[in-house]
Amino acid sequence: MKKIIAITLCMAMTAMMLVGCGAAKEAAPAETPAAEATAETPAVETLTAGKLIVGTNAAFPPFEYVGDDGKPDGFDMALIKAVGEKLGLEVEIQDMEFSSLVTSIGSKIDCAIAGMTVTEERKQMVDFSDSYYEAVQFVLVTADSDIAASADLSGKNIGVQLGTTGDFIAQDIEGATVNSYDKAVDAVNDLVNGRNDLVIIDKNPALVFESNFEGKVKAIDGAQFEFEPENYAIALPKDSALTDAVNKALEEIKADGTFDALVKQYIEEN
Ligand code: GLN
Repeated sequence: MKKIIAITLCMAMTAMMLVGCGAAKEAAPAETPAAEATAETPAVETLTAGKLIVGTNAAFPPFEYVGDDGKPDGFDMALIKAVGEKLGLEVEIQDMEFSSLVTSIGSKIDCAIAGMTVTEERKQMVDFSDSYYEAVQFVLVTADSDIAASADLSGKNIGVQLGTTGDFIAQDIEGATVNSYDKAVDAVNDLVNGRNDLVIIDKNPALVFESNFEGKVKAIDGAQFEFEPENYAIALPKDSALTDAVNKALEEIKADGTFDALVKQYIEEN
């Protein structure tokens, strides 16, 4: 019982600290321009209401997908709910296009979790939490394709999800025609029907699509094409008090075994 009260108190204090940070910044707007900007974002207002509004794109299994009950489910959804619990904040998920996530942070949403890779370009607009997962881009081809190395990619029709790191890699491939889609599965459908020669997409979704389109497509490790490893993190408003709090929550979730249990449940067993 004592333990439960201690935990509840601790969570309440974290929530108060977050709200407190926002309020403190509002009271002293002269401090730094960055702090001022943060205080004015709706993000802080929603936090005061005890809610964390989280953007995602629920079309990226196993990290996010629409569950049988019609609601976003997946590893990232479970992870951000665990973070919310640690912070004493109720998590509300907003499903939107991946390419709109970064620009919506601090206005429509408080943060985004979407298998999002940390990139220098995105860092100009948002801050990232500590990384929680390492990934790499994979190449999906039809079962009978002989695409196997970097040199085979030039001049091809490449399907990607709009605004993703797969999209950025494809744009740099010589002579390639890049076909971009809002939903990755549509790029895979166009691979199967011959409109795309290949699809560039993150490892875990690639493996899910390989099994969902069994016998029709195969997934090739991006290392074979010299693609660099990428790190997923939660995207947050710039200079927000939320970032430290989220990082602390992530640390706790890793230390208490929750993180490994979620990896097992959502990634390894699928
Ligand atoms: N990791 C990729 C990126 O950040 C793809 C993410 C996604 O499609 N949800 O661009």
